[in-house]
This record gives sequence, C-alpha cells and structure tokens, in this order.
Amino acid sequence: MSTPIRLWRVPGMKFGMQELILGQKNMTPEVLAGIRDAGFTGVWAMVRLRDVARTDIFPELGADAHTHQEILRELSDRCRDAGLNLYVHLNEPRGFPVDDPFLKAHPDVAGAPSPSPNDVMVYGWRDSRAMCTSTPGTLAWLERACTDLFTQVPDLGGATLITTSEHTSHCYSHFDACGSGIGEHFGQKPGDVLDCPHCRDREPADIIREVLVTVERGIHSASKGAHVIAWTWSWDMLTPAPQKELIESLPPGIIIMPDNERGGELEWNGRTAKVDEYSLNYIGPSPRARAQIEIARDSGKRAMIRIQINHTVESSTAPNWPIIANIYRKLANLRELGVSDAMASWCFAITPDTLNVFAFSRFLREPEWRDEDEFLETVARDYFGIEDGRAVAQTWHAFGDAIKPYPFGFGVMYFSPFNLACAYPLPNHEPRIRPMEVFCLTEDGKQGDMLEQSVEPYGVAEVVERLGLVYDAWTAAVVEYQNALAVATISEHAEQELNVARYFSHICHSGWVLFSWFAWRYHRDAIPDLDKDAVRTRLEAELRNLDDVAALLERDSRLGFYEENREYFVTPELVRAKRESDAALLESL
Ligand SMILES: [Zn+2]
Repeated sequence: MSTPIRLWRVPGMKFGMQELILGQKNMTPEVLAGIRDAGFTGVWAMVRLRDVARTDIFPELGADAHTHQEILRELSDRCRDAGLNLYVHLNEPRGFPVDDPFLKAHPDVAGAPSPSPNDVMVYGWRDSRAMCTSTPGTLAWLERACTDLFTQVPDLGGATLITTSEHTSHCYSHFDACGSGIGEHFGQKPGDVLDCPHCRDREPADIIREVLVTVERGIHSASKGAHVIAWTWSWDMLTPAPQKELIESLPPGIIIMPDNERGGELEWNGRTAKVDEYSLNYIGPSPRARAQIEIARDSGKRAMIRIQINHTVESSTAPNWPIIANIYRKLANLRELGVSDAMASWCFAITPDTLNVFAFSRFLREPEWRDEDEFLETVARDYFGIEDGRAVAQTWHAFGDAIKPYPFGFGVMYFSPFNLACAYPLPNHEPRIRPMEVFCLTEDGKQGDMLEQSVEPYGVAEVVERLGLVYDAWTAAVVEYQNALAVATISEHAEQELNVARYFSHICHSGWVLFSWFAWRYHRDAIPDLDKDAVRTRLEAELRNLDDVAALLERDSRLGFYEENREYFVTPELVRAKRESDAALLESL
C-alpha cells in the first residue's frame, strides 16, 4: 500500500514572497511534531519556479536559486526529522508584469495579458502577461526548472499544482472559456477573444495538459517517488466538468485532486444554492469531485481530495467550526470511494490542535468506522475525557442541523462583513458608495458599505430570516453543549470548544441584527413587519451580545483572528467601538 498523503499548512506561514523565511521561523521541531502527531504526512510552501530553480534555457531567471534551494533543503530536512515531507505549491509557468525586462528580452514568450488580482495581493503588480506555452522555450524551461528544483532539493515530497485562475500563468489561465462566471474577475468582457495568436485556436484543455505533463516529466526525471498532484481547481473555466478526456489523457504518475464540495448544490426550504467554495454545510463529494475521482481511478491514477477540516469561508475567524457530524459524513463518503489522501487546509483553517482535526485524524486512523453515533461518541469521550459521549454527540448533530439555513453564496461569504460582524458598525449614512471588499477582511472602515451586494442572491429579507434561524438553533445547541461538557475532565478542551461555539453564536447575532437594521434603514419595504419597536428590541439585544463577545475575546485570543492574513479582524476594542456607535444609534431612534 502506498504511503498516505495528508497535507497541512504550518501556522505562521503567509502566502507570498516570504514563504521560505517564514518557513525557517515557523517550521520548528515542536510545531512540525504537533502536525505529525495530528495525523498529517506533509506540509507545503508556495514557491515560484523562477525564484527557486535555474536553467540554461533562460539563465537570467533564478539568479538567487542557489540560496533558495539551500533553504528548501534545510526546511525539507527539518520536515523529514519530524516525520513529514515538504511539498511545494506551484502555479506555473508564472506570468510577469507587462513591462518586465524578461518579456522584452524574449518577446516570443510574452503571452496573453490580463489584470491579476492575486499578483497585486502578493507581488504588488496588477497588469500581467502570461508565459505562452505555445512557445517551445516556455515548456523546455518549465521542465528543466522542475528537474533542477527536485534535483537540488531531492527530499521534497512533491508538488501541488494549480493550473487555472489564481496567479497569471499560461495564456488561458485567466480566460473564462466556458462562461463559469470568473472571467469578469480577470477583466474579461463578453465576446472577448483570447489575446494570444499562438494559443487562441488551441483547445484550453490542451494547455492544461501540456503544463501538467511537462511538470510531471521534469519532477519525475529528478525524483521518481515525488507526488505530482494536479488540483482540478477552476478547470471548469476552461473545459466542462468533469474533464474526462483531460484526466484520462494524463500520465499515470499524476495524482488527481478535486475539491470535495465545488460543483455541488445545497438545498434549503426548496431553494438551491450552487456550491462553488469549500463548505462544511455541504457533505459531498460533489458529483464533479466524484466523477473526477472515478475517472482518475479508471485511467490508472491515484486520486485524493481537497477538503477543509477546521473551517471554511462560511465561518473563518475562529480556529474551527464544530460541525463534527458532517466531517464524519464527508470522510465516510470518501471512504466509500476509496479516498483517504487529502490536502486538508489552505492558508486558513490551519490550527492543528482542534477538535475538528482530532476527529479527522481519529477517523483516518481506524477508517473502518461504520456507525456515525459510535464514532461521534468515541471522539467526544476521547477529546473531552468524559465517560458518556452521547450528549456531546447530540449537540454536534444539533450544530449540523442549525447551519442548514445558512445563506450560502458569494454575497454573504465574499462580499459581506459576516465573519467580522461583531466589529462592523451599523451603517447610518448617505450616500453609501463604497463597494464591498472581497471577504471584507480588511481594516476597520475599509470593508465597504454597499450591503446590497452582501445579500445576493437571496435578498435582505431571506438573509435576515435565515440568519435568525441559524442563530436560534445554534444558540440553543450551545446551551446543550455547555451542559454536556460540564463533566469534561480535559477542561482546556471543553473551554476552548465552548468558546468557539459561543463565538459563532455572537457572529450570527451580529450578522442578523446588521441585516435587520440594513433592511429597516435602507429598504423599509423589504421586511414589512419589522417595525421600529422590533428594530429597537434587536438593537438592545445586540448591545448585550457585543458585551458578551468582547468579554469572550478577552478570554480567548484564538478568536477573531483570520489565519490567511495573520490578522485580528474582531478584537475587544473594535467590538467596543461598534457597541458605542450602535448604542448612539439606538438612542437616536
Ligand atoms: Zn499563448
């Protein structure tokens, strides 16, 4: 049987230029041992090939590769010492800023231009140009660079590969050929034609294939056992899911990794929502993920899963979201497909010592679990040190039921301040002209104020209704949780988990009041029975909610923190400032 692949991210890492330096700081023996003990076999760091590899094809790229390779060897050694493998995350062949001297020196390599939001975030340049793979030099460089990296750092465990969207890479990397809806994000307008004469008439799937085949050849010619993992992230931009022909045509040395949830559908009260993000609410694997796994298997390839264990964008400012029964169901369904290899976090949801990770590892250690209740009760007993896990297990079921009405969608998850709702003051100004920032996880006052974007596609009345239902059911379950955990002998775990559960209750309350207020203040007709007295009652309750969450944040520094940015977005100070402004508003009614 092959070695399991269970990938994690080291806390303290930040996606970007400083990965290797942060690795030297954060990949300590203690941290790595903790990740290993939690059941993982590898950790990853993002690199650009042109920083970490040097070739004679484009010798001007990788001038400092020697230094970077030395650090990668050191990090890889540290991982090996801890019983882990170091993986690199690649999004290649990386594009360049439009005015980069490299493209001037090699005009044949200069591919399609596009704005690149991901490059702005990490490297500070927006206008980018792809590295055209229809030019033989690009593929020759790509292969040679992979060989150089894996020759010079021979102990690397492998590479995870994103080949569509994200940073500009090949000519189609930002081109929405299938109308998936992402093109606009990269400046594409309806009817646009790919701006590369060499790739325009080629099939986009052929470009993905040639990148993967080239990287695989480059890596495996240096390191036969390295795992080359093709993440199918956003492939539906370029070729319709489940990309049967593409997957079938890839060499057997490539491992296929679909997202467990993307391509699924959530249903609540007769309304369906497309799942195009990670979700702990949706079980999966989605029909797309299932098909990709089966196609991979049928064509002789290994398949693994990209899944979030601790949390998702649905609830992202606490270390974990205790939807434990759903984690069991996800893993049980994957087991039926024979999948137990996983990349189980991204740059967020990376705290290794949580209940969720404990449950994940407990399942995989004895994957023959067949009875959900027995599993949940065992986890409850072991994690909290209690004799009878039934009451805790019931609460986990109640949490899973409570989040069913969650208004899943890009409005609430991408363009609303939901995850920092306890720190977002109620708006009371005109005009509101600032668009909502993506994720709204930015400093106070810069999140945007056009909350109409936040409630799409449901509308404000439905979002208020749904958040109200989530809040009521979740909060009732927290009371049960508290009772069930009163007998816990591992009190630290009990306290931490109660705090996490309470925190989500507070966030939900603030979100519910925020959108209730927004409806009453700006869209009075949207919820006709929400009168002034009802608004006043909700605001009074919100002041108590904010007092409670401020105290909770003082007690537990793990809360309010968004791991991808390494920043607190909900702090006692911000909550108190919101309370003051909300109180003044209430006073004025
Ligand atoms: Zn091209």
